[in-house]
Amino acid sequence: MSGIRPTGFLHLGNYFGAVRNYVRMQEEYECFFMVADLHSLTTHPDTKDLKVNVHRVLSENIASGLDPDKVALYCQSHIHETSELYLYLNMLAYQGELEKTVTFKEKVRQHPNNVNAGLLTYPVLQAADIILHRASLVPVGKDQEQHLEMARNYVQRFNHRYGKVFPEPQAFNYGSELIKVPSLDGTGKMSKSENQMATLYLSDDDDLIRKKVMKAKTDSGPTENNSKKPDYIENIFLLMRLVSDEGTIKKFESEYNNCTIRYGDMKKQLAEDMVRFIAPIRQKAMDIRNNESYLKEVMEKGAEKARRSAKATMELVRQAMGLNYY
Ligand code: ADP
Repeated sequence: MSGIRPTGFLHLGNYFGAVRNYVRMQEEYECFFMVADLHSLTTHPDTKDLKVNVHRVLSENIASGLDPDKVALYCQSHIHETSELYLYLNMLAYQGELEKTVTFKEKVRQHPNNVNAGLLTYPVLQAADIILHRASLVPVGKDQEQHLEMARNYVQRFNHRYGKVFPEPQAFNYGSELIKVPSLDGTGKMSKSENQMATLYLSDDDDLIRKKVMKAKTDSGPTENNSKKPDYIENIFLLMRLVSDEGTIKKFESEYNNCTIRYGDMKKQLAEDMVRFIAPIRQKAMDIRNNESYLKEVMEKGAEKARRSAKATMELVRQAMGLNYY
């Protein structure tokens, strides 16, 4: 089970941190993937772009290889059981721990005038989304590690107080560790809403991709053989490892190690490999987005599957909690 907020265009971080794993998992597991529209209200209370953004996230997920026939692909707000479970979990979540959450503190810094209770209890809603399907594996990027730890705490508290209903969910990635795709300016991570010139979106056209990659931060190159790479250079290599072939990566690694590397050439190569990777997804997503009746069908079918699973869990929850009076 996993979700992505409809707060803008999907980017390479969303793709490699999350969607790529969804696409592999759909072949092996029963999967629930949702557009987290309720979560987006914590920071984006203006809903005028919401419909377009929901359609965008759905289209970009499908264009990346997610098959709505194999998984439940749905919209968070269509499953009302989530809100009920969120309420129960809120009684097991404490103010002090919520205030210490890294993402909460970050959001308070970014939006000091909108520190709402929904923002504070964001991890509680996320836990409700996950355990509503009694999910065990949650494919997410590294930035979500702490939220998953909190979800496990709520599960432990619930199970301890009311009896075992939920498995403990774990963050999941097919590689050895969770991924953080860095932004091109060498500071922080790629993200939907900030740093737009330093983030590569699945919707960027070829020229924009080239322009962004060519602007990535570099320096005049190493002066000693086999020296350690500065973070911003390591980031460029990391991006290359995501989209370029073995031979290309080896070539630039060895040029770095013997100090003959020309970052201009490296970025040109990376830009072309990015274009090759992004262009087909962009084109496919655009076609899907133009087909509103198909998207409606996807959402209806997804909600039906998710609702079935949610209803079964909520029966168990109410029974365990003793909320069954007749
Ligand atoms: P954003 O931070 O771009 O708004 P979301 O909060 O909607 O993205 O997160 C959707 C998924 O994408 C989550 O699983 C998150 O861990 C992953 N993700 C977001 N940014 C990155 C990144 N730069 N690197 C790796 N994974 C990321």
